Amino acid sequence: MHRQARRNAFVVFRIAAPPVELERLVAELSSLGTLGVEEREAELLAYFSADFADPAGVLALEDASRHISVSGPAPVEDADWEHEWRRGLLPRQIAGLWIRPSWCASAGEPELVIDPQQAFGSGEHASTRLALELLLATLRPGETLLDVGTGSGILALAALRRGASRAVAFDTDPIALVNAAENRARNGLPLALYCGSVEALARTARFDVSVANLLLHELLPCLPALAARTRRALVLSGQLELERARLAAALPESEWACVREATEIQSGETWCARLLIHRDARQ
Ligand code: SAH
Repeated sequence: MHRQARRNAFVVFRIAAPPVELERLVAELSSLGTLGVEEREAELLAYFSADFADPAGVLALEDASRHISVSGPAPVEDADWEHEWRRGLLPRQIAGLWIRPSWCASAGEPELVIDPQQAFGSGEHASTRLALELLLATLRPGETLLDVGTGSGILALAALRRGASRAVAFDTDPIALVNAAENRARNGLPLALYCGSVEALARTARFDVSVANLLLHELLPCLPALAARTRRALVLSGQLELERARLAAALPESEWACVREATEIQSGETWCARLLIHRDARQ
C-alpha cells in the first residue's frame, strides 16, 4: 500500500515566515497531512508524499500581510528523504501503546520499537492507526491472531505485546518480511512470519482474530479465504469511505456483523476501518 510513495516519490514545500508564525504553520501543515516538518532558520521544510491530494492547501498558507511565502512542491532525492523522514518520526501513542522508532528515546510503556524503513507500517498512516485501534480494542488476552499484509509487522507485534497467545503474519513482499523479522527481533516477540499469501495457510487453520490493512482491490480477492479461517473477529482497514458499499457487499451480513467503524481523514481522503464479529461469537 502506497509503497511507491514511501520508496521514492516525495515532495517538499519551503515556507519562509517570521518566528512568531512557525508554531501555527506546523499545526496547519500537520492537518494537511505532512509526513514531517523540518525547522530551519526562518523557514520550514514540509515533506509530503507525491500523491498527496492537496498541494493547493499548502500554497494557500502564503500570506503577504504576515510575511509568509510558500514555494514548491519540489521533488526530494531518496537519500535526503530517508534522512529527513527519520528525523521527522517521533514516538506516537496509539490505542494506549507507544510506537517508537529505535533511534528515539523511550516515551513510555507499554511500547513497541518499530523501524519501518521501506516497509509500510510506522503508525504514520491513518489506516495503520485505525487498524491498531480496532484490533487492540477487540483483542482478548490469550487469543490467536492472523495478520494479512504485515508490512513492518506493526499490527501483529502490537497484538503479541498486548497479550495475544500466538500470531502469524505474512506479506507478498519479501522486503516487508525482512523488515518485519528485524522488528520482531527488536521487540523479542514470538511472531511467526512467512512470505506469501493467504492460500499458503492450511485450510483447517483457524485464528480468533484476523486483521488486514489492505487497499480494497488487494483485500477483496483474499477476503473469503481470510474470513473462513477466522473464528471471532475481523478487523479490516485500508479502504476509503467511498468504497464502503463494495466492502459491505463482500461478506454475508448474516455471518459477519459490523459492530464498530472508525474513520480518519488524511491528506484529504477519508480512511475507514471496521470491526466485524462472527455470528457464532455473538451473544
Ligand atoms: N500491516 C501494516 C502494513 C500495511 S501495507 C500496517 O498496517 O501498517 C499493506 C501490505 O500488504 C504491504 O506490505 C503489501 O506488500 C501487502 N500485501 C498486499 N496485498 C497482499 C496480499 N494479497 N497478501 C499478503 N500481503 C499483501
